[in-house]
Amino acid sequence: MNERCQIHVEGIVQGVGFRPFIYALATENRLGGFVLNNSAGVVIELEGDRKALDRFLADLRKQAPPHASIEKIVCDTIPVRGEESFNIEPSRDGPERRAFISPDKVICDECLNELFDPSNRRHRYAFISCTYCGPRFTIIGKIPYDRQHTTMAAFPMCLECQREYHDSTSRRFHAQANACSRCGPQVRLVRPDGSELNDIDPVSAAARLLGSGAILALKGLGGYHLACNALDEAAVATLRRRKKREGKPFALMAGDLQTIERFCFVEEGEKFLLSGPERPIVLLRQRDRSSIARDVAPGQKYLGWMLPYTPVHYLLIENSGLPLVMTSGNLSEEPIAHEDSDALQRLSRIADYFLVNNREIQTRCDDSVMRKFDNRELMIRRSRGYAPLPIALARRFAQDTLACGAHLKNTFCLGRDHHAFLSHHIGDLENYETLKSFIEGIEQFKSFFDIQPSLIAHDLHPDYLSTKYAAGLDGVNRVAVQHHHAHIVSCMAEHGLEGPVIGIAFDGLGYGPDGTIWGGEFLIADLAGYTRRAHLRCVSLAGGDSAIREPWRSALSYVKDSLGKNPLALELPGWRSVSLNKVAQVETMLERNVNTFRTSSCGRLFDAVASILGLNHKANFEGQAAMALEAAALQGIEDDYPFDIEENEPWQIDLRPGIASLVGEVVAGSETGVIAAKFHNTLGSVITEVCLRLRKTEGLNRICLSGGTFQNMYLLERVVRRLRERGFQVFVNSKVPPNDGGISLGQAVIANAVVG
Ligand code: ZN
Ligand code: ZN
Ligand code: FE
Repeated sequence: MNERCQIHVEGIVQGVGFRPFIYALATENRLGGFVLNNSAGVVIELEGDRKALDRFLADLRKQAPPHASIEKIVCDTIPVRGEESFNIEPSRDGPERRAFISPDKVICDECLNELFDPSNRRHRYAFISCTYCGPRFTIIGKIPYDRQHTTMAAFPMCLECQREYHDSTSRRFHAQANACSRCGPQVRLVRPDGSELNDIDPVSAAARLLGSGAILALKGLGGYHLACNALDEAAVATLRRRKKREGKPFALMAGDLQTIERFCFVEEGEKFLLSGPERPIVLLRQRDRSSIARDVAPGQKYLGWMLPYTPVHYLLIENSGLPLVMTSGNLSEEPIAHEDSDALQRLSRIADYFLVNNREIQTRCDDSVMRKFDNRELMIRRSRGYAPLPIALARRFAQDTLACGAHLKNTFCLGRDHHAFLSHHIGDLENYETLKSFIEGIEQFKSFFDIQPSLIAHDLHPDYLSTKYAAGLDGVNRVAVQHHHAHIVSCMAEHGLEGPVIGIAFDGLGYGPDGTIWGGEFLIADLAGYTRRAHLRCVSLAGGDSAIREPWRSALSYVKDSLGKNPLALELPGWRSVSLNKVAQVETMLERNVNTFRTSSCGRLFDAVASILGLNHKANFEGQAAMALEAAALQGIEDDYPFDIEENEPWQIDLRPGIASLVGEVVAGSETGVIAAKFHNTLGSVITEVCLRLRKTEGLNRICLSGGTFQNMYLLERVVRRLRERGFQVFVNSKVPPNDGGISLGQAVIANAVVG
């Protein structure tokens, strides 16, 4: 007696070879029926005897393809039809769109073998892929994931590719991006003026040019990279000069782990991250006297490495035999270039040659960045390889939610049911280009996941572009969320905590409801609210953005605050970067309260100390001075500086005695590395002391650490160790960044808790 059932499968089941897998499993069990993609996932109908059906269902979960992730299986019995054969049927657009979209995947081993096999018809073909590998998110315009909905639609398959596509025994059975050199996209090597170099093999020609010191703009999956020989001091210095990007480290790419180990220490867990299918950039501790060009990461202890992830990367590395700089293709401040004409125009003053191709990039997507901490991954930038996969949460979203994220390092987040769909890295919402990709990204995610948000979360700052965007939406419920509360809840949500917890949010700047700028905060937080129980004592800072760009301004404020009048009489390196006139002018501004703001920012405190020590005079990006200070700190120092805690409401952490002795040591000529370490240690002691007191008054033992400052490994390691020694339970971000890239998750969760 035959039976028939209909099965709905949800999760990551499109673009991962799921239908071919179902086909194989059904035919193996001699079942009739069909499988198809719809906008909710995959629908399977099966007909056969009970035993075969049971075997099928048991193996469905057990044997699913490696990149698939099944969230839900619903199985219903339906009337038999007498169907004996099994088919893959065309996709159907259903009323609901619940399918997840697969991130881009590294080229698989089998495709890689074919790439380097001279007898294979895809030998050295730059767009080789199969049902298990290749681009997904960056080429999909809408779902279901079918070729006509991707930027591969422009390339009709040749007969041979079609044959593979329809052959159930082929790895390319229903591979939507299937192509070969006859029918698919092509690579070209062009000069900045657009003229083509007519080389038979553009990729090997590009590799030769890299070897002779050229800078190459390279079209990748989610945008353009700028590449050059990482061992070539002159080439890297030229790239840095042309890119106008002082100080910010460049990412690197090498062909294998052994090459990376020549330059950096790589632990087992880091090897695992480097070689995973997501292929993120992993921050690794540099060996002494590594031969990587100095300008790759000036003054840094860590280098960001990744392994190749596209066929072109493999070919370039194989042909050049070099470790390569692989940094995003933009001038600093601008988003990564991803449209061809735009790239040629914007990068023509930076790159000597362009390795381009005629496959369009649907969605811009930067490389992800992470590091290893406490045996877990610590995400620094969550983008390619991870977006747009959702983060599963313990608590459901009561209504469809959009969180607009932070001003810098923006990501947005759409929430539905148990899922938070965090966007790829959008960037700093400071210019039109970035705002445009923010708005387009939101529209695309809404359509991908069929989410019509009725609840909008945004930052408390009234002037942010994201706040204004939120204000312009009609018929929605809006919730303004305090920046540091969002940081803490991003960490709580990841760990399924509902609170209350002691939340420590240390970062650059976030708008406080009292009109001051926050950034060194101890909150007692739950999902819906918080109390500010302690913070770094506020100082006045002069200037708007220049207060961030010019760390000496922070130094002046802190020195003046700690030592009283006449900071200029002190011989401090910070003053040397600017004219004394200028410093005197700013001092007057501080005295008269002209164009000043009050802040408890920990980031600005780091700026101040870095400047006092002469480590950084001009910050080209938020956090640059702090990174210099971390890099300078010597290991093995246990001393710290004095501080006071004034227990009014909220408690004020007074670092004036510490700054005074630190300045004294600088003037006396003490070693910079020791002072930097003692400063870090002081913050560690502050955190421990405040937490001990809060535990006494609040009876709380769980601590969440978040905010950009906790990307500082010296500080994070020390703080976590000391708090655990005191018996605290300590939580840090892992899946979303502790920096502002994780804010949107916190906002979304808070907004839902607030509306109940
Ligand atoms: Zn493959
Ligand atoms: Zn073909
Ligand atoms: Fe922040």
